[in-house]
Amino acid sequence: MENQQETLVSRNRRIILFPFPFQGHINPMLQLANLLYSKGFSITILHTNFNTPKISNYPHFTFISILDNDPEDERFSKSSLINFAPNFIFKQDGADVLRKELELLLALEKDELVSCLITDAFWHFTQSVADSLNLPRLVLRTSSLYSTIIFSSIPLLDDRGYFTLDDSHLEEQVSEFPLLKVKDILKIGIKSDKDPYAELLSEMIKQTKASSGIIWNSFKELEETELERVQHDFPVQSFLIPFPKYLTSSSSSLLDQDQTVIHWLDQQSTESVLYVSFGSISQVDEKEFLEIAHGLVNSKQPFLWVVRPGFVKGSTWLESLPDEFLGEKGRVVKWAPQQEVLAHEATGAFWTHSGWNSTLESVCESVAMICSPFRGDQSLDARYMSDVLRVGVYLENGFERGEISSAIKRVMVDEEGKEIRERVRVLKQKADVSLMKGGSSNESMESLVDYISSLQV
Ligand code: UDP
Repeated sequence: MENQQETLVSRNRRIILFPFPFQGHINPMLQLANLLYSKGFSITILHTNFNTPKISNYPHFTFISILDNDPEDERFSKSSLINFAPNFIFKQDGADVLRKELELLLALEKDELVSCLITDAFWHFTQSVADSLNLPRLVLRTSSLYSTIIFSSIPLLDDRGYFTLDDSHLEEQVSEFPLLKVKDILKIGIKSDKDPYAELLSEMIKQTKASSGIIWNSFKELEETELERVQHDFPVQSFLIPFPKYLTSSSSSLLDQDQTVIHWLDQQSTESVLYVSFGSISQVDEKEFLEIAHGLVNSKQPFLWVVRPGFVKGSTWLESLPDEFLGEKGRVVKWAPQQEVLAHEATGAFWTHSGWNSTLESVCESVAMICSPFRGDQSLDARYMSDVLRVGVYLENGFERGEISSAIKRVMVDEEGKEIRERVRVLKQKADVSLMKGGSSNESMESLVDYISSLQV
């Protein structure tokens, strides 16, 4: 991770950013905010009370809570936000609340001009608000270009009947996207384009196309072909910046990261440890949990496993495991400083749910992957990592202890693992070069700053 030198300029331009309130969305938005601050912009963060970012870690930003301020309003209760995808509610109501908040803010700012609003792509209703206030809106898309292209094709895939195919078709190729199998498409988790989640994705795509620009947490050399397609399909400027190469996301972690793991890793041999984490939302049932545990122990490799409280449905934490089950080689924690773990020389591979932040963090630290996607974009990114870039092994059939330990052996012990590590090392090098003067990410960052500075409000 590079050190960001703060540009010494007087701050007379403000940017308002609005992250979607989940860990995988908050991290890249706050990384982006820090980068823009380092380029001389003042920063205001709009946030919900649900999953409020750690404000004390950002004394240089202004924070304003919006949307769920009324404790009496059950639409904003914790459970309805958690079920945001199927029951997404922030449409006209959300737009009205945001418009009032922005009008107040714009009226307040006398010495500084507000250059633009940057919102998560999921906050699609913010486009109409920004338009009505003549405020340019840029979108932060927190997933890959590849998965976004597939998401933009959901109506087509639905037309062709993919979402209703039965299990006998799971292994078939998707002819419109030959990289994918039918099971990858089904794993997105929608049944038809009338599904509320599909509607959310479709609005997201529509309003992203209507925005003033798209910021992607990625880099050109990682998704070069997809960039061409995006430039063709999305008629606005795209800026590709791999945030994990610039900063860690520790300061925006909602859970406390267990720092003692670094000392534990210091005592392990080089590239000997399998790091295991399935992100901030995924859950398994007890049977799957036990398969994972058996697979890990049977592999006989040292492992560092993040088991988030709530990860196992119906359990508080590890109570379904027999005492001493994990033995000497395994370390389990509730939450880890993931980027530091991936950067540690003892880490040999990452068994991940293929969330986009985790995937990119792994690439940026040149760590080979085992991919176990759960839902949403994860199956698409897993397929891309395993079949296009060939930097991961895709565990395609869920959690089965025999398949798990054989995948671990392939990546940690076999010749195949060495080849995967070599490929991911080359990718990391490309990411490093992209940050240098004249490199693609560096140029993207500079043109983003120029572009925002040029916006007339
Ligand atoms: N993360 C972390 N500690 C952990 C596990 C994850 O700090 O023990 C961070 C990780 O570095 C990443 C984010 O949480 O930035 C997870 O985002 P991702 O897109 O990978 O998955 P999601 O949680 O959205 O499913």
